[in-house]
Amino acid sequence: MRAKIFVQGIVQGVGFRPFIYRIAKQNSLKGFVRNVGNGVEILVEGGDDKIESFLRSLKTEAPPLSRIDEIKVNYEKVERYKDFQIVKSKKSGISESIIPPDVCICDRCLKEVSRKGDRRHDYPFTVCVDCGARFTIIKDLPYDRENTTMDEFPMCKDCQGEYENPIDRRYHAEPTCCPICGPRYYLFKGEKKLNVKNPIKEAANLLEDYKIVALMGLGGTHLACKLRDDIVSELRRRLRRLEQPFAIMARDIKTIKDIAHINEKEEYLLRSLRRPIVVLRKKKEYYQVSPRLDSIGIMLPYSALHHILFSYTDEPAFIMTSANIPGEPMLITQEEITASNLSDYSLVHNRRIENRTDDSVIRIVDGREAFIRRSRGYVPEPIELNFEIEKTVLALGAELNVAICISKNKRAFLSQYIGNTTKVRTIEFLEGAIKNLIGLTRCGKIDVVAVDLHPTYNTTMLGEELSEKLDADLMRIQHHHAHIASLMAENRIDEIVGIASDGIGYGLDGTFWGGEVFVSKNGEFERLGSLDIQPMPGGDLATRFPARMVAGVLYKRYEEEELKGILSRELNDGFKNEKEMDLVLKQLERNFNVAQTTSTGRILDAVSALLNNCYERTYEGEPAMKLEGLASEGEPSVDIPIKIDKSSKRYILDTTAIVDAVLLAKDEDNREDIAASAQNAVAKGLAEISIICAKKSRIEKIGMSGGVAYNDAIISTIRREVEESGFTFLSQTKAPPGDGGISLGQAILAQRSKS
Ligand code: ZN
Ligand code: ZN
Ligand code: FE
Repeated sequence: MRAKIFVQGIVQGVGFRPFIYRIAKQNSLKGFVRNVGNGVEILVEGGDDKIESFLRSLKTEAPPLSRIDEIKVNYEKVERYKDFQIVKSKKSGISESIIPPDVCICDRCLKEVSRKGDRRHDYPFTVCVDCGARFTIIKDLPYDRENTTMDEFPMCKDCQGEYENPIDRRYHAEPTCCPICGPRYYLFKGEKKLNVKNPIKEAANLLEDYKIVALMGLGGTHLACKLRDDIVSELRRRLRRLEQPFAIMARDIKTIKDIAHINEKEEYLLRSLRRPIVVLRKKKEYYQVSPRLDSIGIMLPYSALHHILFSYTDEPAFIMTSANIPGEPMLITQEEITASNLSDYSLVHNRRIENRTDDSVIRIVDGREAFIRRSRGYVPEPIELNFEIEKTVLALGAELNVAICISKNKRAFLSQYIGNTTKVRTIEFLEGAIKNLIGLTRCGKIDVVAVDLHPTYNTTMLGEELSEKLDADLMRIQHHHAHIASLMAENRIDEIVGIASDGIGYGLDGTFWGGEVFVSKNGEFERLGSLDIQPMPGGDLATRFPARMVAGVLYKRYEEEELKGILSRELNDGFKNEKEMDLVLKQLERNFNVAQTTSTGRILDAVSALLNNCYERTYEGEPAMKLEGLASEGEPSVDIPIKIDKSSKRYILDTTAIVDAVLLAKDEDNREDIAASAQNAVAKGLAEISIICAKKSRIEKIGMSGGVAYNDAIISTIRREVEESGFTFLSQTKAPPGDGGISLGQAILAQRSKS
């Protein structure tokens, strides 16, 4: 009997052919295996039972980095082959094979690295077909060594031997190398290269000695230092990051359990091959690591370098934060790193980083994974859709947390984290990432470029330019509609009542939206509910200084003199001085330089400020995140009214009533309980509106997207309310619910472009 088998998925560059060779031999089958453009082709001949057992192994024992999406088998009654061979790839024009992401070093490589006398002992670039860098080193397809940044390192005889031996686990492991032939590390003090025998050991010593050391890795660079408050403050000073939390890397799970509470799901994520940063609930306080938050982001070592570094020290954990100026992309070249003055010393290597890839960040929210950042370990793996995409779309996201998306056929490829596109350097990174993603997905002609509706986002302007250059349609997509479309795409549904709750996005009516309830189907949406519209005195300044939001929200409730008294009494430090307070009140009175918003984030910010919890936002989401930190210590025991106005065309949640209740409760109750109660009221209000809308429009499913979906208390309250009313509740686990997932929704909605 002969079986012709065709396998599609992530099957190239992951040790698939040697695996096939092995299981074919085990079953004494004859034939061949080879890579073809869009997968792997296998032909096996032998007894029926042998072929069956071969297919079983194929399905259950495939290599860790591979992912089988489809297996097709055709049987014939012929046998002609004399042995089993791996044969040369069939050249084909367009490859649909998917590039695997970077994953952590495998146990077998790690064993070699730690074994004295092994030729790879202490060698930080040790890799095999099961592990290590992929996406970060790829320049072009097909995935062959000459198309990676390893092209500058010709293999030595030993490495070549392994590379060509079909039963070696380094058979066609494109990045394979050793201390003789591969890249190496150097230690710098400032821009001066130091003459040291063992740069990694020296770096470990410097870390122990309270120095800040830059560590250039596989896809990016970390700044590392000890977890002592004075050094961490120094790092904050250099990075100009006043309060934004830092991630840490702990040597093992036991150490993590000393620092934070972890449940089974979190442990599974921490230990997974993808090794993301997992945001955990603090047990031990390292104040400077994540000031006034109840959480801390931790990861385990993932590259050989990390393991070697920990082997030279007894430190349980280090700060391990991306080496970047705020808002700018991570530094990835030797020159930039050593010239940056961010670190005292720099441990750098001589292999180019082709695709900059930040660490992924995940938090378990409401019992489910939520990507805060989807990058290393996950990119460029696509999100599989349940429908055929007709047009190839390039979607550019919004402004912050940008990740782009290319959709074609039944797949959406979300890019790595690009970041804050208000910065010129980030735009340069974005342009490079667009070029690379177009190349790696072999997507051919772009039919549509999708951008946010906001006219002055840099991504919008870049998209306008690109659509001309690529001769593609331009499609402008409303921000919250994109959030909900992203939620729908990953959940594979075509109608929903969606709660889009976040900071701010450009609305259809020129105001800023951010607390919306939509009915969304067939690529269209209807805005059936929202939070009440509130003034933002000073526009963007009201985002940065949330006391301004308090003034705005309470303006319609109190006379000006009374309000001024309240602000002076409750929020004196929220304003620079009395003059500023007067100016804000004047702006409100004359409606001058006042934006209008239904944002949920701004209401949470206002509550945070009013509770004297946070007066300035120094990083995205800070006041609301600190409110969550405060609320996690309390119970929603304070009475806060949930008033929904049903008289107009849209259901509107009265947010002034919520903020006013916070003000009135302030003297008698404790801040933690008020914080919890305010969050609870916002959640219940949004849930109630969405339930009414679902009943009215006879839709079974209610879901939530947007940055507020990271707030555990809010999303779990909404889920509970929705499920208790008999509806199904959906959230996002594959794409980020924040703006990092926006481009997925844009790409789907742009299918409806006219031409
Ligand atoms: Zn390995
Ligand atoms: Zn070698
Ligand atoms: Fe958003």
